[in-house]
Amino acid sequence: MSDAELVLRSTRVITPEGTRAASVAVTDGTITGVQPYDAPVPAGARLEDLGDDVLLPGLVDTHVHVNDPGRTEWEGFWTATRAAAAGGITTLIDMPLNSLPPTTTVDHLRTKQRVAADKAHIDVGFWGGALPDNVKDLRPLHEAGVFGFKAFLSPSGVDEFPHLGQEQLARSLAEIAAFDGLLIVHAEDPHHLAAAPQHGGPRYADFLASRPRDAEDTAIAHLVDQAKRLGARVHVLHLSSSDALPVIAAAKADGVRVTVETCPHYLTLTAEEVPDGASEFKCCPPIREAANQDLLWQALADGTIDCVVTDHSPSTADLKTDDFSTAWGGISGLQLSLPAVWTEARRRGHGLEDVVRWMSTRTARLAGLDARKGAIAPGRDADFAVLAPDETFTVDPAALQHRNRVTAYAGRTLHGVVRSTWLRGRRIVAGGEFTEPKGRLLTRTH
Ligand SMILES: [Zn+2]
Repeated sequence: MSDAELVLRSTRVITPEGTRAASVAVTDGTITGVQPYDAPVPAGARLEDLGDDVLLPGLVDTHVHVNDPGRTEWEGFWTATRAAAAGGITTLIDMPLNSLPPTTTVDHLRTKQRVAADKAHIDVGFWGGALPDNVKDLRPLHEAGVFGFKAFLSPSGVDEFPHLGQEQLARSLAEIAAFDGLLIVHAEDPHHLAAAPQHGGPRYADFLASRPRDAEDTAIAHLVDQAKRLGARVHVLHLSSSDALPVIAAAKADGVRVTVETCPHYLTLTAEEVPDGASEFKCCPPIREAANQDLLWQALADGTIDCVVTDHSPSTADLKTDDFSTAWGGISGLQLSLPAVWTEARRRGHGLEDVVRWMSTRTARLAGLDARKGAIAPGRDADFAVLAPDETFTVDPAALQHRNRVTAYAGRTLHGVVRSTWLRGRRIVAGGEFTEPKGRLLTRTH
């Protein structure tokens, strides 16, 4: 630490070995040492004394729909990355759909990278998309640095991103397995969705019945079978149905290369409390019952579910009508994901170390970024969130940074105030004040 430029000192630093009082030395944007709390500060280094606020690694959110370019009235890199930074997130991986163009060819990837370059307040990477007709584009996209490929098994909600049928899934997955890539999947079975009662209208119970658990369970079972047959690496996006957990646990025990994420809204909101007509709570798969939520928490605790990501998927407010069948499906969670998850985690007896594992360490590993992100340890990027975990605040939509201030969390009192967020040793937001965007565009590393 003798040549450190910056030292962050806290009585509570979350390291891979646990939480302890420490001084974290930073040089050239990289963590160079995690030293005893009272280690002497080198001459010339700036000391940032955080007192009892907790220093944790910046969160890595691998599921964000930025929609830029093309649907920038919904969201954009400037607003999304500010919301993320305000919430303690220092890396996001952008989903390939809802922007125009979608990230389904190398040309489209280049377009998106160009648009993001000077707007990114945090580090940004890209998923590619697997469509019925772009198998030939998958390897070039992989070589161009996308982190993996997203596919839908049922309609995606936008015409330009069609879903894969069973044979198309097998073909795309075989191609991706050939270069040992990663397929990330929206797993709801279209036949089970079609067979479910479709009443439409404002009643949440009707919407819930229209997206039954067996649609998820069936799609996940099939995906796991394909992954096993091909030795392929797959990731289940936004798991909501706890009924799928036994199949996933058995597959993992069997050595199938499958990982699973869930989202803050499934962990903190319940079907029982969604008011009729309140489509700010609409997402697919849907928020389910409290008893289902308890099992998701158990699965996080036992490792069946690997990680927690936002699935931030905004739209303009006019698309959030009171008819659940036609309203845009998506919950905007970037800025509130850490306090929302932490509030429920602490109530259930989990520590901040657990939250860090679910929202930073494991997501960094999912994206293959774990050499640089996801932990406070020498050699990693000096990306941090500074959190006052015992302080509370009430969610005021006017204080949110994403473009359309629609939120399912309005009026909730949450634990955990993000005091500041740091990217490669530079404070990028504190007290609602942002510095100039200096985020980098990330590509998959070998
Ligand atoms: Zn999504």
